[in-house]
Amino acid sequence: MTLKTTKNMTDKRLKPVALAASLTLLSLASLSLTGCSNMHLGFDEKAKENVPVTVDDTITLEQITQDVSYLASDDLQGRNNFTPNIRQAADFIAKRFNEVGLTPAPSDLNFKQQYLVQRITPNTLTVEINGQAFDSESLSMATTATDFEWNSTVEKNDSSVTTQTLSNQAIKNLPVNIVMVGEDDNMRKSLSELNNQGGQHLVLLHPKHEESFKRYQSYFARGLTKLVNESATEQGGVIVIALTDISKVIQFNVKGNAKVTSTSLSNVVGILPGKSKANEIVLYSAHYDHLGIKPSIDEAPNSNAQQSSDIFNGADDDASGVSAIINLANHFAKMDNNERTLMFAAFSAEEIGGFGSKHFSTHVEPTTIAAMINIEMVGKPAVFGDGTVWMTGMDRSNLGEQLNQALAPQNLKVYADPYPKQNLFYRSDNATLARLGVPAHSFSSTQLDKDQHYHQVTDDINSLNLPSMLQVIKMLAIATTPLVDGSITPSRIDPNKVKRSGLIY
Ligand SMILES: [Zn+2]
Repeated sequence: MTLKTTKNMTDKRLKPVALAASLTLLSLASLSLTGCSNMHLGFDEKAKENVPVTVDDTITLEQITQDVSYLASDDLQGRNNFTPNIRQAADFIAKRFNEVGLTPAPSDLNFKQQYLVQRITPNTLTVEINGQAFDSESLSMATTATDFEWNSTVEKNDSSVTTQTLSNQAIKNLPVNIVMVGEDDNMRKSLSELNNQGGQHLVLLHPKHEESFKRYQSYFARGLTKLVNESATEQGGVIVIALTDISKVIQFNVKGNAKVTSTSLSNVVGILPGKSKANEIVLYSAHYDHLGIKPSIDEAPNSNAQQSSDIFNGADDDASGVSAIINLANHFAKMDNNERTLMFAAFSAEEIGGFGSKHFSTHVEPTTIAAMINIEMVGKPAVFGDGTVWMTGMDRSNLGEQLNQALAPQNLKVYADPYPKQNLFYRSDNATLARLGVPAHSFSSTQLDKDQHYHQVTDDINSLNLPSMLQVIKMLAIATTPLVDGSITPSRIDPNKVKRSGLIY
């Protein structure tokens, strides 16, 4: 990776060294001069202390270039979850957090907040309805339960089918709901409602929906990834779909089983304790996982020489955001006057369901978080121009309004999300905290309607505009200073107005 700005940085650092060298030469001629130069250096340091630290000193093009270049480098092979490369990325972030002066949470080793996710893959499924057995071609299931068995008994009045169920986890005692999706019904909407409800559902899907059914079938066959939730508040569930024109269920017998594998992932979390309002938190976050390597058609299983053109480097998404939080951490650490506690969280598993932020949200009391500044794709100029940034969910709290008051003296502002139809408020880690009432928003500068690189292998360092990114990070530092010093407290987001995420798939 070539660092365009490394040369400048080296030049700047060379100057004082050259000066010191010439002083040493002079001091060879006169011992008293040596003493003088020492005094002089001491005076300089003191004078430096009185000069206020500004964003220009703490957030530099050189440093953000180094950080984003490493995170987006081919070395990290696209930072895919469950690979050694994402651990390499986590180690780098932990090292940087340590360098800038953050401390880890007491329970975390080396800034890593570990959690477990389960991969639940459907294994066997047998379905019999009204005495008719189904073949696997016309069956599909999404399940968070590893084993379940549903048996109906026919009542005298066959309109009520009672069931006995046998399945694991908290869904054990729930009844089985029989759902007919007819010819004219909206299949996607019906399934999404069941997903939101959780629980156990046997869906009889009219053959007219066969085409959509096939898509769901292959999607569900790949299995589900779920956070292993210690508190088990989410109960999950099972949806079994049978493609059939049966319109009345008299008797049924369903049995299914799924394979489970657990793997651990880590968030990287650093803390800057607050001076006077230590119990109030300002959370800066970004996700450090990405999509890994493009599977090639003629995949050689043991080929370790990956073509760099096949790597999803994720420079904008979201190495840019991670670099932003590292450098914001440096800024506020050097300012050393944060009244509130600042937390900097690099989440994993954003790209596969937001499990990192979900886990994080169960380990912090949401009411203590004054605001969440989630930074997503700030590597290129927004539609409003170089160095501009916009936020999602502007009208859900007054955070944007308050930040803009802080920016007004400099004629800067945070814009409202220009792509409301894309539902971006729900498409990043902020949504998890927003569901808990936190004023949690994502800040971005991507031109999502035009960007050719989004989730492509071309989202690499060369596609970024680093000076624009630098301006955005500096602006976020200025905008959020009143949050950090405790002088503003944004209104809470109304959790009832934030859509839930599905419980099953
Ligand atoms: Zn992203």
